[in-house]
Amino acid sequence: MSNEGQDRVWLITGCSTGFGRELVLAALAAGDRVMATARRPETLADLAELGKGRVSTAALDVTDPASVEAAVQATLAVFGRIDVLVNNAGSLVMGALEEVGMKRLREQYDVVFFGAAEVTSAVVPVLREQGHGTIVQMSSLGGLKTYPGYGAYNSAKWALEGYSEVLAAELAPLGIRVLIVEPGAFRTEFNRNKVTTPELSAYKESAGLTRQATAALLDSEENDPVKGVAAIMKALDSDNPPLRLLLGNDAVDGLREHHDALLAEVTEWEELSRSTAIS
Ligand code: NAD
Repeated sequence: MSNEGQDRVWLITGCSTGFGRELVLAALAAGDRVMATARRPETLADLAELGKGRVSTAALDVTDPASVEAAVQATLAVFGRIDVLVNNAGSLVMGALEEVGMKRLREQYDVVFFGAAEVTSAVVPVLREQGHGTIVQMSSLGGLKTYPGYGAYNSAKWALEGYSEVLAAELAPLGIRVLIVEPGAFRTEFNRNKVTTPELSAYKESAGLTRQATAALLDSEENDPVKGVAAIMKALDSDNPPLRLLLGNDAVDGLREHHDALLAEVTEWEELSRSTAIS
């Protein structure tokens, strides 16, 4: 990175709770400067106070393009550049796809996929002009595998995964890195903040079971966001960072299990799959 040896300037979305808040604290502890953003920036007053001039705050709703542009401009006005963008803001709409319906499905995509894409689009020209920078996409294990009842969230995160993988390939030659973070279950406000949909009895044994399991997980998620953020900082500091960083035993085990099943199916049906060549 061309700013080696200097502090980094971060722009982070969704900083009022969870990973976003912990990222601000970790960046501060690393001696960096941060534009911390939230839909209600007054929730960030303690971070600004703690930062003593190294944390600035701005209103940023990822579903509002004008607020995204204003926050990017504010970051440049205050700190002069952006070294690390973290697309962290997120929400969970729970329910079987029929229960979710089109309106809530679009709302989920507006936050998880189009929100992250909106902020990325506003920041990429800045990073390209600088000739360096890193984009951190907070995805999920649920961006790599799926669960009944998580169809809206999973599919929006899968879209984010595809978008981010292409972005990484397009930006690497320009000196810009992309890190996709894949957390398992972490003890943040994420579960508490979820939007639940009216239940249909037809989905009791599929999405309904996931609803119960998710409710039971509240405040007993197995992973610590402070440790998650420490791992992200370590990966960012590495000379050879991964494209994807899984976080948590549940994430590693879940993805392994999913890929083993995927490969087993490819093998089982391989002969038929290979039977389509013209000659
Ligand atoms: P959280 O609910 O504590 O934090 C999410 C933040 O995003 C909140 O502060 C919320 O206000 C904000 N937000 C929601 N909609 C927004 C919008 N339109 N504009 C701006 N901000 C908005 O949960 P978290 O776990 O810290 O979530 C952070 C990221 O981690 C999310 O992208 C989430 O999908 C991802 N993630 C979390 C978990 C987990 O188990 N906690 C697992 C996998 C992935």
